[in-house]
Amino acid sequence: MWAIGVVCSILPDVDVVGFRFGIRYGDFWGHRGFTHSLLFAGVIATLALVAELPRASPGLSRGWLWLYFFLATASHGILHAMTNGGLGVAFFSPFD
Ligand SMILES: [Zn+2]
Repeated sequence: MWAIGVVCSILPDVDVVGFRFGIRYGDFWGHRGFTHSLLFAGVIATLALVAELPRASPGLSRGWLWLYFFLATASHGILHAMTNGGLGVAFFSPFD
């Protein structure tokens, strides 16, 4: 569970792979774009919950586990927002 949480917290930076394929910084899939949004955090939390369920973390309900994975993923964008470099964070992507 802890290891999956760590992966959730760094996963939003998978968008840097897009630089290699010509995706620009300000694009939908660009850095600090969709992968740093709250919707992406929700999707990743759901996938992480599915991955964690077979291990059945004792004492934690599915709702708490989902919230833990969601906050771990969303914390990445929140920490980005506390910096003064680059563009802002697209928290509400795909909405403008
Ligand atoms: Zn990032």
